[in-house]
Amino acid sequence: MRALQMVRYKSDPELVDVAQPEPGPGQVVIKVGGAGACHSDIHILYETAGEGDTPWRLPFTLGHEAAGWVHAVGSGVRGLEVGRAVAVHGAWGCGACSRCRAGVENYCEHPVPQGGLGIDGGMAEYLLVPEARHLVPLPDGLDPAAAAPLTDAGLTPYHAIRRSWPKLGPTATAVVVGVGGLGHMAVQILKATTAARVVAVDTKEEARDLARSLGADHVVAPGETAAKEIRGITDGRGADAVFDFVGSDATLQLGVATSRPLGDLTIVGIAGGSYPLGFFSVPYEVSIQSVYWGSRSELVELLDLAARGLVRPEVTIFPLEKAPEAYRALHDGTLSGRAVVVP
Ligand SMILES: [Zn+2]
Ligand SMILES: [Zn+2]
Repeated sequence: MRALQMVRYKSDPELVDVAQPEPGPGQVVIKVGGAGACHSDIHILYETAGEGDTPWRLPFTLGHEAAGWVHAVGSGVRGLEVGRAVAVHGAWGCGACSRCRAGVENYCEHPVPQGGLGIDGGMAEYLLVPEARHLVPLPDGLDPAAAAPLTDAGLTPYHAIRRSWPKLGPTATAVVVGVGGLGHMAVQILKATTAARVVAVDTKEEARDLARSLGADHVVAPGETAAKEIRGITDGRGADAVFDFVGSDATLQLGVATSRPLGDLTIVGIAGGSYPLGFFSVPYEVSIQSVYWGSRSELVELLDLAARGLVRPEVTIFPLEKAPEAYRALHDGTLSGRAVVVP
């Protein structure tokens, strides 16, 4: 079968022929219906230093955001009939540690490689899922190509926003910084699950227009006056929650400058920026956190929201043969919403 693989460090991914996987005991092979191209793949492909910087063995198939149909099940797998539409919860944990037992596999204490992140992922005709528990049946009304981006571009902001729900009542303001693959979902998730007013920040006018069309109450261009503008929108109080989908020095600075005391500043983007943390550098009792992906139960909730039409990923479809173009467009910042590769 065809697969898009990371073959070497600091290089473009390559389309190659590989053997079709067979499920072992407890495993499931899905026929891929869609696999999303994520910004973290760009980081993996071009920004990791090389051998020794990661625990991976190259080559492996990219794609940590996938959905499809059950194609074959291994012995011992129950409740997943062939042909069933499923989403893959991609944060594969060991399944045995206390975090995994509590359902928080995204913070597994004995991390194992995840599909598309060190072992074969979904940018291929078929995907081997090593444990049946990683699959979530799709509710009626959701097809795999539309569901694929929900498993990361949707789930990651859903998790980030969900943990700030208690702070996002009717008088609150939430700020979304960066309206890309994840940020455009964040705007919708905030509107669907909270009563807060939503302010979206992006350098690109098209992205700000997209945010507005998805329900953002205000859009702001970054720059010298952005923090003042956002403070103005909140009657000078500042934002109760800032979700930073960029994570650069500049966006962290903006996040701190617009945070209200007792607020949340959540770093989702992996630009690797920093901000000096100290008694005098941030408003009182602002909680600052980074987040990684989300749990399977959160994915179930998000799929339900999507099946009811309350959130919808903006997708640009690429056939598998054109997957390298999807990554080029993602790298060049010319995509609107999420690139989904359909084999
Ligand atoms: Zn990702
Ligand atoms: Zn674990």
